[in-house]
Amino acid sequence: MDNTILDLKTKLATPQDIVILTHRNPDGDALGSSLALSLYLQQSLHQVSVILPSEYPLSFKFLPQVEKSLVFDFDPEYCIETIKKASLIFCLDFNGLDRIDKLGIHVEQSNAYKVLIDHHMNPEPFADYTLSQTTASSTCELIYTFLEKLEKADSITQDIATCMFTGLITDTGSFKYATTDRTFEVAAHLKRCGVDDYTLQDKIFNTYSERQLRLLGHCIYNRMEILPEYHTGIITLTKQDYKDYDIGRGDTEGIVNYLLKLNGIKVAAFITEQPKIVKLSLRSKGDFSVQEIASKHFNGGGHKNASGGSAYATLNAVVDRFKHVLPKYAEKYFVS
Ligand code: 5GP
Ligand code: MN
Repeated sequence: MDNTILDLKTKLATPQDIVILTHRNPDGDALGSSLALSLYLQQSLHQVSVILPSEYPLSFKFLPQVEKSLVFDFDPEYCIETIKKASLIFCLDFNGLDRIDKLGIHVEQSNAYKVLIDHHMNPEPFADYTLSQTTASSTCELIYTFLEKLEKADSITQDIATCMFTGLITDTGSFKYATTDRTFEVAAHLKRCGVDDYTLQDKIFNTYSERQLRLLGHCIYNRMEILPEYHTGIITLTKQDYKDYDIGRGDTEGIVNYLLKLNGIKVAAFITEQPKIVKLSLRSKGDFSVQEIASKHFNGGGHKNASGGSAYATLNAVVDRFKHVLPKYAEKYFVS
């Protein structure tokens, strides 16, 4: 055991005021890891608050204690007060303080002991203790590793396991991407802790509204462009689409992956016009690094095969910029 985990273990031996933070637009891994850690820490009588920069998708409303989490967008002052009072801050599933928007400055200024647990590339060195592994399928997988380091893997209850399993299945697309033997070992342990994985997958993936399914149809039928020479597919959504389909948080989750179902398509871009910015969701297969495109051209980042970014520009300008930089990367990764 290295010294820092020993430090942390000592700190956790007495009740602390703990804040758990995760990234804006929290996904299954962000929510699952935060709630799993929160449930575990509550067992040891710590005071724990989970703070989300923005609201979570309704498809995750079944997660244990998710309704207790604080949402910065709804109650900024209370969230800032809570951070100021914290003696320990956990940052989960993000690699830099810009990923938590206005909360970043408050974490930076806090004297609390800071812990970063994450699997994205290029983590910022702001934490006192960092557990960063880009080979991990998910932050939830790393929460398991973290509990092992604390010698507490036997404290995983059915609820904790359900939260962790949520991150495993959402970040791997139901064990299709970014898995290692370790992922399946962790999954097996969580199943032994009582996870009903069939029901969990059903709750997460099979609760579309009719509107959402029609939106998927609209994206594929009307908003899809294929660039065969670059093995790339693009789907765009305009502000008007957001109005017409009454698109809410989480409604567009996973649409980008449909492009990769096409034979020969290895790069997928889902580009959406948001109220103030244009957001990109990028996915790829094999060696092609969308992380490079996201970080170099769209002020973003993530993983080699799944990244995101944004730009202050019109939707058309962003699509043009993407198409403009694409040939260089196609040449780099697709030359046979
Ligand atoms: P998604 O496309 O599902 O929003 O995100 C895919 C991956 O890229 C996730 O791991 C997410 O954390 C990361 N990501 C998405 N948007 C951004 C961004 O604006 N900046 C950075 N650094 N990472 C992002
Ligand atoms: Mn993740």
